Amino acid sequence: MYSMTELIKKLQKNRTLTKNEFIKLLRCEGADMELLRKTAEAERIGIYGKDVYIRGLIEFTNFCRQDCLYCGIRRSNKNCRRFRLTDGEILSCCDEGYRLGFRTFVLQGGEDPYFSDDKICALIEQIKHKYPDCALTLSIGEKPKQSYRRFFDSGADRFLLRHETADKAHYEMLHPSSQSYDNRMRCLRDLKEIGYQVGCGFMVGSPYQTDECLAEDLIFLSEFKPHMIGIGPFIHHSDTVFRDYPDGTLDMTLRLLSIIRVMMPSVLLPATTALATIDPKGREKGILAGANVVMPNLSPVGVRKDYSLYDNKVCTGEESAQCMNCLSRRIESIGYKIAVSRGDSLV
Ligand code: SAH
Repeated sequence: MYSMTELIKKLQKNRTLTKNEFIKLLRCEGADMELLRKTAEAERIGIYGKDVYIRGLIEFTNFCRQDCLYCGIRRSNKNCRRFRLTDGEILSCCDEGYRLGFRTFVLQGGEDPYFSDDKICALIEQIKHKYPDCALTLSIGEKPKQSYRRFFDSGADRFLLRHETADKAHYEMLHPSSQSYDNRMRCLRDLKEIGYQVGCGFMVGSPYQTDECLAEDLIFLSEFKPHMIGIGPFIHHSDTVFRDYPDGTLDMTLRLLSIIRVMMPSVLLPATTALATIDPKGREKGILAGANVVMPNLSPVGVRKDYSLYDNKVCTGEESAQCMNCLSRRIESIGYKIAVSRGDSLV
């Protein structure tokens, strides 16, 4: 069996490990964890330098037809105050974002039937017409391939759809029987085939997750080769089935960010809002562990609290401009800088 140091070297050389080796590496601590972090940071700087890419997140609806057991905007949460932004409101978020230096907008929402394919296509066309130099990312859940194709033809560039877990049995513990692992995976394959830059990902420390599950996630990532990987700690939401489950940890999230960076040096890897929520320096620590993207909120302040996937989400009380100020100061404090660009992956 390899030592931790040898495992890190092996991962850097082969860009993957066996399941048992991943499980071992997921348990590294202290000096070994610091070596993993340093290796990841060096890989990241080798490709992206000290640039941090920004994405303006617009949470445009919290109506959802799905019922994911962990999520605060799940259909059966009767305490959730539902909202939808109008096209005009969404475009004003983009206007403000553009002024602040954003060149990628992410439209994220629950699976809201009100936003038909026609409506989504019209929205994409308006945004791309007004901001031809910006990339547009969709994060609107599971759709038929035909819909994904229409969005792509209307100008959407990227799609974020976390696979949530690569372990089918685990997937079934996190979702009602009306939602299937196979359909989630079908969506991801379709998105890639159509030509999107695709992001997948998972929560760290979700209920029933084991180190074996995480090792399977890593193997899935190394095979699927997404352009982006969104990972953040699971955080309980008090109106869900999982209200009493413990949150994911900072250390496990940081280890995973570093492992993913070493495994896939050019991947786009956000330091997520969930990570910033469980630790006051979460974003900074995430970047130092190998992340190269942050996704500040551009949603109108009035609705931010209602887009509540988990409890105590940070940055819900401030205007976008204030958030950007705070964020750039934080990023500069660790010697990195925000890049004003689309931030495409450098492969
Ligand atoms: N409806 C879209 C967007 C979902 S929200 C979709 O299905 O892709 C984006 C991500 O938030 C989810 O994929 C999930 O991984 C994460 N999320 C949801 N509830 C969470 C919780 N309680 N803690 C942490 N992350 C959560």
